[in-house]
Parts: sequence; structure tokens; C-alpha cells
Amino acid sequence: MAKIALITGASRGIGAEIAKTLAKDGFDIWLNYRSNDTEAQKVKNEIENAGRQCLLLKFDVADYKAVENSLNPLLETQTPYVIVNNAGFRRDTLLIWMKQEEWKDVISVTLDGFFNITKTVLPFMLRNREGRVINITSASAHFGVPGQSNYSAAKAGLVAATKSLAVEVSKRNVLVNAVSPGFIETDMLEGLPMEQILKMIPLGKLGKPDDISAIVSYLASEKAKYITGQVFRIDGGIGC
Ligand code: NAP
Repeated sequence: MAKIALITGASRGIGAEIAKTLAKDGFDIWLNYRSNDTEAQKVKNEIENAGRQCLLLKFDVADYKAVENSLNPLLETQTPYVIVNNAGFRRDTLLIWMKQEEWKDVISVTLDGFFNITKTVLPFMLRNREGRVINITSASAHFGVPGQSNYSAAKAGLVAATKSLAVEVSKRNVLVNAVSPGFIETDMLEGLPMEQILKMIPLGKLGKPDDISAIVSYLASEKAKYITGQVFRIDGGIGC
């Protein structure tokens, strides 16, 4: 039977690419998304056309009850080998103008999302004595970006949680790592000042979703069996 990879926020962008790549690697996919049925169905079709199974799981990762209601019945018979905590979003504004919900919503999707998904699946991974948790953080966790104090705090928190969890579960052969993308061509970049951004990137161009899915594929593979608690920056050299 194929191993299963659960990817959150996979109807579009980086998550969709990760889902398709892990399917090519031989995983069946549990594909979470929040709202975009049409795009999620397209990703599912591509995965199924490539010969793998794909289960669509529509819920908000920040909603613990919704996560439990969706995953618990599945976990009675199957356990994902890989979780990719990818769902995330931005609500950029200077802190002085930031509304409380803009702070809370961004923190919640990233950090509650990580907690809700990982907490629900982890007991089964620990029982199986195998698994990979891969958290998608951001270059914003590592250096200052004006207007992103909410997003930077959330992603830096996720980096720290990655390291703590890695130590907690290493003896049960569950490996936990983070991937920090720089500027990757997806809908998330809409409205950002591209000319200024390109000047910050030593490689002089934006990344593509497959730059991120390539390292996730590696971290999910047998080749990465001695890597845990690490953060991989895939950002064209920003701040190096
Ligand atoms: P994107 O193109 O905006 O796609 C976001 C995906 O997340 C969509 O599938 C969306 O689902 C889903 N999503 C959002 N909130 C969710 C929630 N509460 N519950 C479940 N699903 C949710 O974003 P992206 O650029 O691919 O970003 C993916 C990850 O990489 C995020 O964590 C982001 O912070 C991180 N990242 C991106 C960049 C970049 O330059 N693109 C840079 C650094 C880090 P629906 O559309 O179905 O609602």
C-alpha cells in the first residue's frame, strides 16, 4: 500500500505543487484546502491521472474541531507518513495600523494550524514509529520585513516549534524540519513591489513552487533519514 502525505493549503500555489510532487514520488495524497473547490479538484484530477489516490479535505486548519472531525475518522484505519503544514496567508500592514483580527488571524492559521494538524496525527505516527513533519515557514521569520510583524512572528514561532518538536519525537523516528521560502511566484505575491523585491534577491529572480516542492520531496524521502530539527532556506540567497 502507498504511503500517505497530508498537505495543508494545497488547492493552489506551493501546496498544490508539493501535493503533485509527492504523488509523483509515490504517495497517496490527503489534500486539505479552505475554500477553492475548483482549484482543489484540478489538483486532485492531476494526481489521479498520474495514478495515485487523492482525498480532498476541506476545512480551516485554524479550527480544531473541524480538523478533528475531518481527520479522526480517517485515522481509525490509516496514518499519513508525511504531514506538510503549508497553509498560510498574509495580512500585511504596519503594526501601527494593524487591527487585532489581522494579528490574530495570521498567527492562528500558521500556529494553531500547525498545532491542530500535528497534534491530531502525531499519536498515530509515534505509535508507528515513523513519520515526517515538514513545516513551511518563510524568509520573513529570519529578517525584518515592514508590514509583516504578524506574519514574521507566526513564521518565526513555527521555526521554534519545529525545533522543539524535533527533539520531543526523535526517539520514535519522527523527523521534523522546516522549509523557509523566499519570494515564490504564487498568488500570495499579489500587490507586492516587485522591482524592490528583485533587488533584494542575489539570484535576481523569484523562486517557483517547484523549488520548494523539490526540498520537501527530499525531506519526505528515505535519503533524509538523518535530518531533523533543521530549517532550510530556499530564497535565492536573501540575507546571506
Ligand atoms: P497561496 O498561493 O496564497 O495559497 C494558499 C493556500 O493555502 C491555498 O490553497 C488556500 O486554500 C490555503 N489556505 C489558506 N488559509 C487556509 C486555512 N485556514 N485552512 C486551510 N487552507 C488554507 O500561498 P502560497 O504562496 O502557495 O503559500 C504557501 C505557504 O508558503 C504559506 O504558508 C506561505 O506563508 C508560505 N510562503 C510563501 C511564500 C511566497 O512567496 N509565495 C514565501 C514564503 C512563505 P483556498 O484557496 O482553497 O482557500
